[in-house]
Parts: sequence; structure tokens; C-alpha cells
Amino acid sequence: MSNASLVLVINCGSSSLKFSLIPFNDGAPVLSGLAEKLGLEEACITFKDLAGNKSSQPLPEASHLSALTALFAELNQRQLLPAVKAIGHRVAHGGNEFKQSVALNSEVIEKIRALSVLAPLHNPANLMGIEATMALLPAVTQVAVFDTAFHQTLAPEAYTYAIPLEYQQRYQVRRYGFHGTSHRFIATEAIHAFDLDPADHGILIAHLGNGSSVCAVKNGQSVDTSMGMTPLEGLVMGTRCGDLDFGAAAYIASCTGQTIESLYQMVNNQSGLLGVSGLSSDCRILQEARREGHARATLAIDVMVHRLARQIGAHLTSLHRLDALIFTGGIGENSALVRELTVKRLGVLGLQLDDEKNQKIFGGASGVISTANTPRVAVLPTNEEKMIALDAAVISIALSRV
Ligand code: ADP
Repeated sequence: MSNASLVLVINCGSSSLKFSLIPFNDGAPVLSGLAEKLGLEEACITFKDLAGNKSSQPLPEASHLSALTALFAELNQRQLLPAVKAIGHRVAHGGNEFKQSVALNSEVIEKIRALSVLAPLHNPANLMGIEATMALLPAVTQVAVFDTAFHQTLAPEAYTYAIPLEYQQRYQVRRYGFHGTSHRFIATEAIHAFDLDPADHGILIAHLGNGSSVCAVKNGQSVDTSMGMTPLEGLVMGTRCGDLDFGAAAYIASCTGQTIESLYQMVNNQSGLLGVSGLSSDCRILQEARREGHARATLAIDVMVHRLARQIGAHLTSLHRLDALIFTGGIGENSALVRELTVKRLGVLGLQLDDEKNQKIFGGASGVISTANTPRVAVLPTNEEKMIALDAAVISIALSRV
């Protein structure tokens, strides 16, 4: 693979397909974009080049295959296609099966299909992108990168639910954790950014986006994380409630007659910031409303912060030392307010923010935001695409040497 080689990163959802074309020598994406509303008449694909120029075209067939066909035609027209030497696919659930990224072949595809029982919304969508891409570009190495893989180092006491163990043994019911690609990226960046000993460090990562999770990383390995068997557990998110007393869910069902499916939909899609505020799942909108005195927006942010601080405190118990608490994701990277409110609650552990530094970090900036002589608190922007591209490139090179 030469320095001019490119890696195509594909993140395929049920009605959308995000892509990013990343130089092997670690530069900004040459081309990125999104095919959206797949399955609907208005389906279209949008391309954005290095200079920020955007172009869009309709997708009359509205399928994942037609989106990829349009993408490869565009790459061909821009004379980029021959440089694509590897393709990395984001895959939601790797179960107990996948502890790291792997080259895709028919056996791996069947294992991902079998794991769809654990991620019925995500794995089948991921597979649509994988199968269509393999049909269109069979000669290029394709790699699966799993959201769960980084957390496969969790010890049994961290991943076991305290229900009869037979459910774990028979049905694979356990905590898996997600956002692993982001947590792994940040964990690697932190070692360089703060000159940590790779074999002796402890960091906590708060990945706060539409979906959010905390991860405790000890000596490069995930030792605890807040999401569980599905991405529902843990923090208060855009539309997910996070931790919820199962007794409360059972009581709601007895009051309303809702089915399990309807409750599951409610806790995943109508809860979190959206459910408490009644206004929006978007943190920016809630911050604005909070400034204007909107009581439910204020409560929504307070509930999110309370849960976040509690989870950070809990995850600390899995570390031998705290070298850094790192905020990342759309909210973590941009919201000085959420960082300030959260770290204030952690004052009992000696954490303290430098207000001026905190206010200055947003929009892709990174840096330490704690005061001198207090435990390090920092912001590092995440880059899951870069991590996926790196895995795909490394595996592709290894295979070409065999
Ligand atoms: P996803 O999980 O879909 O990748 P992101 O990581 O992009 O999402 O995060 C989206 C969240 O980040 C939204 O709640 C959005 O409001 C929030 N966000 C983005 N910019 C800001 C900002 N300047 N201030 C506060 N929140 C922000």
C-alpha cells in the first residue's frame, strides 16, 4: 500500500449509509458523505470534498446497493477508485465472538448474521452495506470493526447481570458495551497526548453524543463501561433513558397496558433528554432553552449531568489511579456547560475545572481544562472513522504479505 492509497469507511444503518474516504497516510477525508432516506422516494446521496464543496443526487431505486453504486461511480469519475485499497465497515454487535477487527469472508458474514439476535436493528443493516460492497468491489480487502470488541476485556464481575446465570449461558445475556471504536481511539490518543505509560495508566472516557457511554480504561484495556447488552443502559442520552428500575417499567405496563415492544420503543426513542424536556433530544436546543428559563429543559440537563457524574464516580472504582477524565463526542467536545456542571459534582474527588480553559474548548479543539495540581480533566475529539480506517489498512497490509 502506498501513501496515496485510500481506505473507504462505511457505516450502514437501516435507512442511511455514511461514508468517508481516508488517505492511508493519515490526512483529512478526501471525500465523505451520506446516503439518506433509503427505502423512501426522497432517497438521495450527498458528497462533500476536501474543500467543503457539496453535491447531491437523487437515488431513484432508494436501496443500499444503489447508494453504493452511485458512490463508486462518483469515485470512478473523480479517478479515486483505483486508489481504494481497503474498506472498513462499522458493525454494531460482535457478541462474544469478535474481540478485534477481522477481514470479512463468508464465514465471518454468517457469524455477524447469527449475532443479529443481539442487535436486530443494527447488524442486519450493517450486513446490507457489507454484502452490497463485496458484490461491487470483490477484489478489495474488506474489514469488520465492531462497536463491542474493545469491551471484550471486561471481567465476568463487570459483564454479568445478577439474574439467574442460565440466561447468560443459554442466551448470551450479559453486558457487552458499545462505542468501543471511539473509546479505543481516545484511549490511544490519551497515551500520546499526556505521555502516559502504555503499561500503567488509568483513564475515564465520557463519550457524550446522541448515544452516550462512560468507559474505564486500565493499561489500555476496557475494564468497565456503562452500556450493557444493548446501548440502552447507563447514561441519560438524546432519546434513551439509560438506567431504569425494571419495576418502574413493569408498573407502567400495568397502568397503561403497553406491550414490551411499545415500552422498549418508548425507553429507546421517546425518553432521555427528549422525554424529560418535552422539547428536543438536541443538547444545543436545550442549553438555549435553559438560558431562557425553560423548566423542563433545565431539568433534562440536570438529570443527564447527575447520572453522568454518578457513573463517572462508579467507574473510578475499576481503576487503580486516575490519569485523566476525558470528554468527547458532540456534547463532550462542545458543551462547556455540561462539562462544568459534571465536574462540579465531582469536586468531592478533588476534580476542579479552570473556567477560562473550559469555555475556550469547542469545535474540534483539544486540551486540558482542569486547574493546576488537580486530577487531569481534558477534551479530546473522537474520530471513529480514522480508527476504522486504521484497522482496515493494517489488516489489508497483513493479508497482502501472506
Ligand atoms: P452521534 O452520537 O449521533 O455521533 P454527536 O457525537 O454528533 O452524535 O453528538 C450530537 C450531540 O452533540 C447533540 O446533542 C448536539 O446537540 C450536541 N452538540 C453539538 N454541538 C454542541 C454545542 N456547541 N453545544 C452543546 N451541544 C452540542
